[in-house]
Amino acid sequence: PCALRGAAVEVPNVTWDDVCGLEDVKCELQEVVQYPVEHPEVFKELGISLSKGVLLYGPPGCGKTLLAKALANGCQANFISVKGPKLLTMWFGEAEATVREIFNKARQIAPCVLFIDELDSIASQRGSSAGGVADRVLNQLLTEIDDTSRWRTVIVIGATSRPDIIDSALRRHGRLDQLIYVPLPNEPGRRKIFNAVLHESSIAPEVDQDLLFKYTNGFSGADITEICQRACKYAILKSVEQDVERERAAADMPDDAVEEDAADPMP
Ligand code: ATP
Repeated sequence: PCALRGAAVEVPNVTWDDVCGLEDVKCELQEVVQYPVEHPEVFKELGISLSKGVLLYGPPGCGKTLLAKALANGCQANFISVKGPKLLTMWFGEAEATVREIFNKARQIAPCVLFIDELDSIASQRGSSAGGVADRVLNQLLTEIDDTSRWRTVIVIGATSRPDIIDSALRRHGRLDQLIYVPLPNEPGRRKIFNAVLHESSIAPEVDQDLLFKYTNGFSGADITEICQRACKYAILKSVEQDVERERAAADMPDDAVEEDAADPMP
C-alpha cells in the first residue's frame, strides 16, 4: 500500500467468498453498488439515480472492513481506506486538505471504493466536537461527496458502531443514503468463520465443534479469529513441550537431575 497522508491505497484481494455468512448484506451491497458499477448503461437508460455511498453499521469486528474490500474486489475497483480519528490528530487545516486530497486521488484512480472507518469520530452531530475540527472535516466531507456526482465510480463506504450520532446531513438522499446493518454472526456464520480461520489446522477429535459454534453466541468474527489464534499458539507450545519431554526421555536423563541443575546454576 502507498501512503496518502492518513490513508492507505491498495487493490484488495479479499473476495465475497472470504466474507463468511452475511449473505443478505453481501446481496444488498452487490445490488446497490456492484451492479450499477458493472452495468451503468442499464441504470442510465432506466433513469435510476445511483447511490453515492453506503453506511455500514453494527458491532465492532463483524466484517465491515472485509465487506468493503470484497466490494472493491467485486467491482474490480481500487480501495482507499482512511480512519476517522487519524484525521482529527492533524494540524489546523491539514485534515480538510487531506480529505480533499483523498477524494481527488479516488477520482483519479476510479473506479474506487473509499472506505472511511470509525466515521462517527468525524461525522457526529455538528457542534458536538471541542475545537470544531470534526465540524470542519465533516463540512469538507459533505462538499466532496456532493462533488463526486459527476464521478459515479467513486463509492464512499462509511463504517460506524454508532449510527445514532452520525450527522443527518451525511445521511441525506444523494449522500450516504443506504444504511446497512452488519450483525454479529449467527451460529452457521460462526461455524463458517471457525472453519475458514482453522482451515489448515487439525482440530482435536475430543473437541465438540457443534457445542463450540453454539456457545460462542455473542462473539464477533474478530473474537473468533483471536480465539483460534490463541488456540493455535497454545497447541504449538504444547507440542514443543512434548518434544522436549520426549527428547529428555530418549536421552534417559532423570527429571530430578535436570531440575536440580536448573535450580542451582552455580554450584
Ligand atoms: P471495526 O468496527 O473494529 O473496524 P469491522 O467490523 O470493520 O471492525 P473487520 O475489520 O472487517 O471488522 O473484521 C476483523 C477481523 O475479523 C477480520 O480481519 C476477519 O479476520 C474477522 N472477521 C470478522 N467478520 C468476519 C466474517 N464475516 N467472515 C470472515 N472473517 C471475519
